[in-house]
Amino acid sequence: MSIKLFLPALAFAAALTGTASAQHQHGTASKDVVSKGYAAVKPEWKFTPYQFQRRSVGDDDVLLEILYAGICHTDLHIVAEHWSKGIFPMVPGHEILGRVTQTGKNVKKLKVGDYAGVGCMVNSCRRCEHCLNGDEQYCPKLVPTYNGLDTDGTPTMGGYSNNIVVTEHFAVKVPPDAPMEKVAPLLCAGVTTFSPLKYNNVQTGSKVAVAGFGGLGHMAVQYAAAMGADVTVFDVTEEKRQAAKEMGAVKYVNSRNKNEFQGFDDSFNLIISTIPVKYDADAYVRMLKVDGTMVILGIPPSDQMPTLRIDSLLGRRKVYGSLIGGIKETQETIDFSVKHNIYPHVEIIPIQKLDEAFQNIAAGKFQFRYVIDMRSCP
Ligand code: NDP
Ligand code: ZN
Repeated sequence: MSIKLFLPALAFAAALTGTASAQHQHGTASKDVVSKGYAAVKPEWKFTPYQFQRRSVGDDDVLLEILYAGICHTDLHIVAEHWSKGIFPMVPGHEILGRVTQTGKNVKKLKVGDYAGVGCMVNSCRRCEHCLNGDEQYCPKLVPTYNGLDTDGTPTMGGYSNNIVVTEHFAVKVPPDAPMEKVAPLLCAGVTTFSPLKYNNVQTGSKVAVAGFGGLGHMAVQYAAAMGADVTVFDVTEEKRQAAKEMGAVKYVNSRNKNEFQGFDDSFNLIISTIPVKYDADAYVRMLKVDGTMVILGIPPSDQMPTLRIDSLLGRRKVYGSLIGGIKETQETIDFSVKHNIYPHVEIIPIQKLDEAFQNIAAGKFQFRYVIDMRSCP
């Protein structure tokens, strides 16, 4: 069973991170949308101005002028080839907020002037069982927003740029009065955490732990608290104690303090792990109550992957991994966030500060999400 569940995830990861064969299939379809952004030219957290062309706006597509783009830790992993080989030059960015400037003739959901968001995917087959179930992220033909191949066979380029062409289905509507700079991270950090909380029916009184209190983690805390859960946060620093409380957590644990990081066995119905580096997964699994579930969101580099003792699972404990969320869920995330006024804590930066932002995220010197103001794009 685990193999069956894992295959689509592998397909997604391969798509997200590009594949060796993918790098040799660049197509020749017409490209007339000029785009300006910042690219990494090799697997290093160094970005330079980069001009390129995107495919023409087709009948089912919209063209967005990008206003804001969030920086996700996944961008750090993919640029540095933590999981697999990348396609360079690479323009990362999959937390995109923009305004529609052109629509194809079949487009119905969006019109010129609307605000819209684009997350980690820009296309899928739309016919397989996963697409039909609203789980496009598990489609074997998924087209990732960057570091993959577009429908015309050319590499996709992400949101660290001034515009994007996307199939209408993969753009979600954003109400015009929403705080746009804070909406961008909802397209990945938001939906990735909202999805498993909803899937696991978190409600009043649920005991939820969030391990890793960064971009994803601080969204998980706010959503779980809004759903009525008792939330405990695990991170590795003293600096975030107060913020965790303000976001609705009942407890904050610095797991580097041995005394503090004990006594939690048999405590939680649900644990959401967003930790992006190697950690003691067994210690967390043992914190699950009988019938509890641990959801893996954080994906450390391949050579730092945590392992799990299977006897930690005794007690009908379950562990599964979850990838972002489908398009319907993404729209639900936006709607829930707007309704409950739940947004990321963001620091707005010009695109010229990308290198520094990447270094700060890697060094844990920053809370909670960087968002690029695309007006700074030269
Ligand atoms: P951030 O860097 O913003 O947050 C990670 C947090 O984990 C930081 O607060 C960090 O602390 C903390 N941390 C580091 N080590 C530990 C530890 N041993 N125990 C507890 N906390 C720790 O990253 P994001 O939230 O953007 O992404 C997190 C992970 O999720 C990444 O691996 C990313 O690739 C993955 N991801 C997965 C998705 C999916 O669909 N499954 C979607 C999006 C992201 P400090 O800052 O102090 O170092
Ligand atoms: Zn992301």
